[in-house]
Amino acid sequence: MTDKIRIATTSLAGCFGCHMSILDIDERIIDLVELVEFNRSPITDIKDVTDCDVGIIEGAVANSENVEVLRDFRKQCKTLVAIGACALNGGIPAMRNQFSLEECIEESYINGIGLDQPRIPDDAELPMLLNQVHPVHEVVKVDYFLPGCPPPADMIWQLLTDLLQGREPSFKQEQINYD
Ligand code: SF4
Repeated sequence: MTDKIRIATTSLAGCFGCHMSILDIDERIIDLVELVEFNRSPITDIKDVTDCDVGIIEGAVANSENVEVLRDFRKQCKTLVAIGACALNGGIPAMRNQFSLEECIEESYINGIGLDQPRIPDDAELPMLLNQVHPVHEVVKVDYFLPGCPPPADMIWQLLTDLLQGREPSFKQEQINYD
């Protein structure tokens, strides 16, 4: 039995850039490993999130699998944190919202430049695309939001250490000014 804080992370419709920013905390990751145990995350081989203190969500919600994973995180994590522009407002994945789903699929698989043997994939294993891409908070309740594309490693470190030490996360204005 461990008394470490349990953290799970996932990338929904994201580019893993926010996860790379987590790794950019550099040598502080050694301190982090002393304090936390990773549950489902790209750095473990755990497929399903279970009973965690903190869940970190990167990426927007674009397909049925994203919805399922996100709901599991909300159910299993006491505190849920959305990090990065894609999770907060849909970001780049939500640029497709100005077109219909059919238009996006046809452009991607039928009419796109350089396609060889155009064909719309129909494997039953593929998750169903949603008509629109959604930010995370439109699907589940989110406790904390960390903006940026990606959020700087120092902000991620501060958020994690605040949460681990039971403090309410807070940032100075200059830290969250992206002009
Ligand atoms: Fe990638 Fe930026 Fe989206 Fe993070 S917010 S997943 S870095 S595009």
